[in-house]
Amino acid sequence: MFLGHFGVALAAKAWAPRTSLGTLFFAGQFLDLLWPTLLLLQIERVRIDAANGGVTPLVFVHYPVSHSLVAAAAWAALLAFAYAAFARNRRGALIVGLLVLSHWFLDALVHRPDLLLAPWSRTAVGLNLWASRIATLAVEVPLFAIGLLLYLRAVPARRGDWRLWALVALLAAIYFGNLYGPPPPSIAAIAWVGQAQWLLVAFAYWVDRERRGSPLATA
Ligand SMILES: [Zn+2]
Repeated sequence: MFLGHFGVALAAKAWAPRTSLGTLFFAGQFLDLLWPTLLLLQIERVRIDAANGGVTPLVFVHYPVSHSLVAAAAWAALLAFAYAAFARNRRGALIVGLLVLSHWFLDALVHRPDLLLAPWSRTAVGLNLWASRIATLAVEVPLFAIGLLLYLRAVPARRGDWRLWALVALLAAIYFGNLYGPPPPSIAAIAWVGQAQWLLVAFAYWVDRERRGSPLATA
């Protein structure tokens, strides 16, 4: 899943108005921000299988540190505590933790049954909506659209507010490029494109600075 995670992060602004959109993007997408580094370190493994069928040519062979339920809950707790200590914003910290955890449950909708409950468990889940392009779009596009609407309602618009729409256009271009583009040429390419997602987080901090409706600083 891609757009859906960003949709939930946008929506979260309604419940955490003092938390920057950049932090919300970071939290919602944290497991996928961690994964490319674990791939490069060869701690986690993925395979490319163009004959895989469905939406993605990726076969997630082994990714328990970034994408098992127990690990996701541990990362959620860690980031929530870190954010609470850094930003002194308990409500924001709760939302950060929930966003990190939400990633696993949203992934469980689309992935094949390859998401382990714990690194040591053999039980893997996944509803495999990725088997169908229509089903994938039917879940992710509304999630993103509703998230964007909630964000627009939560943060009053200002004139010349082009950054947000540039970010929305970029996310859509990446999503549809992935969905309809050729499979990635190598594992290294997957990892480095994955690392480029940090730029989306930076972009969201920049959007938040332009768009924040209150004089309160956001972190
Ligand atoms: Zn993921």
